[in-house]
Amino acid sequence: MFELFRKRQNFKKSINCQLGYKQLFFFGRNVAFCSNGNPSQQRKYPIIYKNFDGNIDIKDLLKKMDSIWKKSTKGIFPDECIGCHLIKESNFYTSSKIDFIQFSDYCLCNSKCIYCNSWRTSVVQEDGTVLSTYGVADSYNIIPIIKMFIKKKLITSDTAIGFAGGEPTVYQYFEEALQLLLDFGTKNIKIYSNLIKFSNQISRGLKSGVIELTVSIDAGTKEIHRQIKGVDSYDIVYKNLKNYIDIAENKLQIVSKYVIVPGINDTEEEIEKWILKSKEIGLKKLEINLDDRVIENGYTKELMNKINKLNEFFINKSKENSLKYDLCANCMFATSYSNNN
Ligand code: SF4
Ligand code: SF4
Repeated sequence: MFELFRKRQNFKKSINCQLGYKQLFFFGRNVAFCSNGNPSQQRKYPIIYKNFDGNIDIKDLLKKMDSIWKKSTKGIFPDECIGCHLIKESNFYTSSKIDFIQFSDYCLCNSKCIYCNSWRTSVVQEDGTVLSTYGVADSYNIIPIIKMFIKKKLITSDTAIGFAGGEPTVYQYFEEALQLLLDFGTKNIKIYSNLIKFSNQISRGLKSGVIELTVSIDAGTKEIHRQIKGVDSYDIVYKNLKNYIDIAENKLQIVSKYVIVPGINDTEEEIEKWILKSKEIGLKKLEINLDDRVIENGYTKELMNKINKLNEFFINKSKENSLKYDLCANCMFATSYSNNN
């Protein structure tokens, strides 16, 4: 079975999902091939297991993954993928059997972002402990999964690992999981955090240059930040951000992100303030995205044109300030929609 995955390393170019059905997302109670989903189908995504409880049958998982991948190489895609903008000419040269594994099985959070559902299932106790509505502090323990994947060589030091959320730093196994991966020698770990809580293991990984950390600031001012995040976290976030920037071996591996929420922060003025503040604090790389709810609940051509213009403004201002920049999936979709409709 493992041999089938090794053979992917020499696969030729073809029309397929750019993620190649070789990424694994522990996403809420699902195990899936992606988490962003298909923007042309309200962000539906292909699921391998529903109601997953943390008990993994590796043989069955690889069999299912291989079956979907083989079909995809013949142009047969899961229903959820039909029409996805990521289906295009791709190549399948990979350095590992599964390229990327993301853990976001927990939906706990200590922030209340307007565009997110995770925090709505969280309960924060008076002492600051975050609980989910189902009465436990997380969905399941990922440590046995990581250990099993390492043992079976499905995680090698080259396999990219991601932590998203909910908020990773309030997930009770986060520090232990990250320590395990750093001790193992994982070279590429991507973490999405709101930075309200400082993490010693994130700090350790930034110091050794193996962690890429993304924080959604979403504003150029404290007031807009509070409106979007639902909590007064601006000062603590920038304090932790500065600490991480100071210690990071590669400053490009700390990314500030701006999620455009129509009606709140969708102005050039706010975006420019965010860019200038980012530069001032020593950030080198920025990302912009559009609120998922716009893609999920419907959009107009007018709105997509506006987002496209904000994208262009963001790109030009980033260049002007010598900052690296990236458009995330929803903004790329807005640009492509605006140019083609
Ligand atoms: S084609 Fe789109 S929806 Fe399907 S796995 Fe790839 S990114 Fe996800
Ligand atoms: S920080 Fe992340 S998980 Fe928490 S509410 Fe915001 S988007 Fe959701």
